Amino acid sequence: MDLETLRHSTSHIMAAAVKELYPSAKLGIGPAIESGFYYDFDIPDISLTDEDIIKIEDRMREIIKRDERFQRKEIPKSEAVKLFEGMGEKYKVELIKEIPDEKVSTYETGKFIDLCRGPHVESSGNIKAFKLLTVAGAYWRGAETNPMLQRIYGTAFETEEDLKNHITKLEEAIKRDHRKLGRELDLFNIYHDEAGAGLVYYHPRGARLRILLEDFLRKEHLKRGYEFVITPHIAKGHLWNTSGHSSYYRENMYYFEIDEQEYVLKPMNCPGHILIYQSKLHSYRELPIRFFELGNVYRYERSGVLHGLLRVRGFTQDDAHIFCTQEQLNKEIADVLDFAFEMLKIFGFDYEVDLSTRPEKFSGTEENWKHATDALTSALNSKGIKFNIDEGAGVFYGPKIDIKMKDALGRPWQGPTVQVDFNLPERFDLSYIADDGSKKRPVMVHRVVLGSMERFIGALIEHYGGAFPLWIAPTQVIILPIADRHINYAEEIKKIMVENDIRVEVDGRREKINLKIREAQLQKIPYMFIVGDKEEQGKKIAVRARKEGDLGCMDIKAVLDKLKIEIDNKTII
Ligand SMILES: [Zn+2]
Ligand SMILES: [Zn+2]
Repeated sequence: MDLETLRHSTSHIMAAAVKELYPSAKLGIGPAIESGFYYDFDIPDISLTDEDIIKIEDRMREIIKRDERFQRKEIPKSEAVKLFEGMGEKYKVELIKEIPDEKVSTYETGKFIDLCRGPHVESSGNIKAFKLLTVAGAYWRGAETNPMLQRIYGTAFETEEDLKNHITKLEEAIKRDHRKLGRELDLFNIYHDEAGAGLVYYHPRGARLRILLEDFLRKEHLKRGYEFVITPHIAKGHLWNTSGHSSYYRENMYYFEIDEQEYVLKPMNCPGHILIYQSKLHSYRELPIRFFELGNVYRYERSGVLHGLLRVRGFTQDDAHIFCTQEQLNKEIADVLDFAFEMLKIFGFDYEVDLSTRPEKFSGTEENWKHATDALTSALNSKGIKFNIDEGAGVFYGPKIDIKMKDALGRPWQGPTVQVDFNLPERFDLSYIADDGSKKRPVMVHRVVLGSMERFIGALIEHYGGAFPLWIAPTQVIILPIADRHINYAEEIKKIMVENDIRVEVDGRREKINLKIREAQLQKIPYMFIVGDKEEQGKKIAVRARKEGDLGCMDIKAVLDKLKIEIDNKTII
C-alpha cells in the first residue's frame, strides 16, 4: 500500500468524524503531506482543544470499525455544485467552480461525501495505525484576507510499530527544538516586540559558541589559502544595479536613503568582494584569489515564514568568492568539496548532495555551462560521492552543488553550497592578464561551507540535542563546591583550568550539592568537578561526566590531560 494514499484516505475518515461530531463544520481541503496529512475545517464558535482531538480520534476508530467502502461517483459539475451547496459546503463549491472539466468525482464513505480525485484505500477498515497530532490556524487558501480555518494534522502508517517509531522521533524532535533549547540553555533570543522579528540576539553562552565556531572557521580558511576581507553592511543602490540584484532580487532587499542617495542593506557579500578584486590589475600568476568573509547580510522574509534561527531577516554567512581561470576551476571545486565534507565530518553530520544544472534562461555561453557542470560532476565523481541531478534547476548565472546535512534524527538541513557564476564577471567586466599578455575573464565561484551561521547553530543545537561536544561547549566545566568552606579550593582549581584554556564556572550558591548537579546536568555542561573536604585534602577532584556519570576521584593533572585529548580530537559524545 502506498503511504500517500493511506494518509489521504485517513484525512477523509478524520473529516467524516469531524462532521459527525460537529455537523456545522465546513470542509476546506485535506491532502497528504510529507509525513502525514491534514484537513482544514471551519467550525463556527468552536476552537478545538486536545480533548476534542481525542474525541475525534475515537470517532475515527468507530468509522474504521464500520469498514465503510470508499465509493467513487462521477457527476456533472452543475450537479456537484448543487450537492455541495445543499450541504452548506461553501469552500468545496468554490473549488468545484474552478475545475475546468465537465464532470467531477466524489467519494463517499458511509454518509460522508467529499469532492476528490482519489485514489483511496478500498475501505475504512484498511486503515490500521493513525494518530492526530496538532491543531493550527490556517487561512483558507493561505491568503490573510480569507477566513481562518482550523487545520488538524495527523499521520498514518501501515503498522502500529512504524507509527510508534515515527511518534518517538517527533517527540525527540520537540525535545531538541533549537528555540526551546536556546531558551533553556540561555543561548539566544529574538526580541520580536522590542527589536523586530527575525533578528537574533546571542546571549553570552550562545555568543561564546558562535565565536568558537568562527575562530575555528577562520583557522581552517587560512590553512586553505583564503584571504580575509571585511566589507560594510550598507552600499549604494548603484552597486546593486551593476550586479543586477536590484532587478531580480529587489523584493528581498532593504532600501533607504543617505544624503538623498539610495542605499541598500547588503543582501549578499559578492559585489563587495568584486570591488576589492577590481581595485587593481591581476596577472594569471596571482589566481586563484580567494576572498573570505563572515559577512552579515539582511534579506526580507515574510513574517509568516520566519522560524527561530532557521529563517531570519539578518544572518552571517561563512562566505567566500574564488576568482580563477577556466583551467583552475576543477581543482578549486574539488578543494571546496573536500573542505565542506571535512567540516561535516567533524560535526558528525551525514549528507545528501544535489547538482542543479542549466535552466531554460541562462547567462554565459553553453560551452561555459558545460565546462562548469563537467567540473562539478567530475569533482563529485572523483570522490565517489553519490548525488542527485536536478535537471534545469540551476539559477540563471551558473550550475551549483547543494549539500544537505543530515542530523542525528536523519533530518536534512541546508548546508554547504558551491555555485559557479558566469554572470557577475561579465556585469562587472572582471579581467586578468593571461600569460600571452591578453585580457581574459576570470570565473567566479560563490561558496559557503557551513552556510548561515544562524542556521548552522540551529542545526547544531538540534543535532546534539544541546549537549555540545567538549571542544565547542560554551561552558566546559562547572565546579561545584559542597559547602562554603570549599569555595576557596574551587577558585584555586578554576584558576588552573583558566590557565589551561578551559572554559569554567564555579557554582558557589548555598544549595544542596544534588540540586547543583541536577541543574548542571540540565544545562548539559560536559564535566562537573565536585569538591569537598576529601578532595581538598588530597588535592584532587571528584569528576562527573554529562554522559558517563561518576568518574571517581582524579588528580588535577590527569583531569586536564583527559579534557585536552577530548578537545584536540573534537570527540562527539
Ligand atoms: Zn480523497
Ligand atoms: Zn556570492
